[in-house]
Amino acid sequence: MNRLPFTLPDFLPGQVWLVGAGPGDPGLISLLALHALTHADVIVYDALVDDRVLALAGADAICEFAGKRGGKPSPKQPDISKRLVELAEQGKRVLRLKGGDPFVFGRGAEEALTLVEAGVPFRIVPGITSGVGGLAYAGIPATSRETNSAIAFVTGHDASGDVPNSVDWEALAKAVPVLVFYMALKHLDRIAARLIAAGRRPDEPAAVISRASTPKQRVLVSTLGEIGAAAVRQGIEPPALVVVGEVVRLREKLAGLMLTND
Ligand code: SAH
Repeated sequence: MNRLPFTLPDFLPGQVWLVGAGPGDPGLISLLALHALTHADVIVYDALVDDRVLALAGADAICEFAGKRGGKPSPKQPDISKRLVELAEQGKRVLRLKGGDPFVFGRGAEEALTLVEAGVPFRIVPGITSGVGGLAYAGIPATSRETNSAIAFVTGHDASGDVPNSVDWEALAKAVPVLVFYMALKHLDRIAARLIAAGRRPDEPAAVISRASTPKQRVLVSTLGEIGAAAVRQGIEPPALVVVGEVVRLREKLAGLMLTND
């Protein structure tokens, strides 16, 4: 890193840094995240972390994968948390690297609580969550004065893998003009149907953004009524975000002159 006109905190042995890696594009990581990558002894990373971000790790850093890959079952959350404690107790500088932001649908809270219980000092380094950065890379503003003064981030499935029952769909549909769904591709049809049943218009604009901010980014623009079928037809793959609301229309206006990495 070039010399900075300020100092970043020391990454000390025995600490765990829980760091957000952003949605993919390595240009979107923070200076603190880069600092952590270049000073960590061990990097415990998730499937959503882009390889280009991992490539910024110091030459001697050990990278440990803690996600789902190739159909193998994912490590259990308590096992990952335990591993972080174990590595910290061995006196390592432990970087726990997660896609997007560690505290947005990323189980960062659970891991931080385990560190507290074990008495391990830790730091949280926020990242750009895909629900904001991914939308921006698709040319869809999260808010605009003309369309919405509120936005909701919603998970498309709960711990059991089903459409979450803990969501008050009626209230959500009624109160929040722009809805951003994470992990929603699998149940997209059912989610759209629930929103329509709760009063949202089937012709309301909706978009799916797959692999946002990576070279494989794909954006599908449709309507709430059609989006599920369109995503299947076009073979849209996870990870993907779903956006419902009038902000989606702005993409058409912005796309013309918006510079992208393509
Ligand atoms: N902590 C992450 C979210 C983890 S949950 C964050 O803040 O972004 C995993 C979900 O995030 C995926 O199912 C998908 O909905 C979304 N996601 C993460 N990265 C993405 C990307 N590059 N493109 C599209 N969706 C992404």
